[in-house]
Formats: sequence, structure tokens, C-alpha cells
Amino acid sequence: MIFACDKCHFLFSRTRQPEQCPDCGKFAVREATEAERQEYEEHLKEFQNG
Ligand SMILES: [Zn+2]
Repeated sequence: MIFACDKCHFLFSRTRQPEQCPDCGKFAVREATEAERQEYEEHLKEFQNG
């Protein structure tokens, strides 16, 4: 599953939703929206191709 942080907008993949953002440490993690999931997958492709 893809999650997003409301504070810093960090997108990341986890099997379970963590309480804290792995980037900024705030308790503001929520499920990513459809648009955010697509954004995450685009970043992943760029990373793999780069
Ligand atoms: Zn964050």
C-alpha cells in the first residue's frame, strides 16, 4: 500500500500503515490518494530507469 504524509507530503510504500512519517517523524500519515499513488509510481519508474 502507498501512504502519504500530510506534513511533508512524503510518499512511501508499506504493507501496514505506520503511525509516524519515516521522513519527518510527524504523526500525520494517511493513505495516498489515487493521484498520489500515480505520482509515486512515476517517481519509481524514473528511479529505475535513471
Ligand atoms: Zn512527513
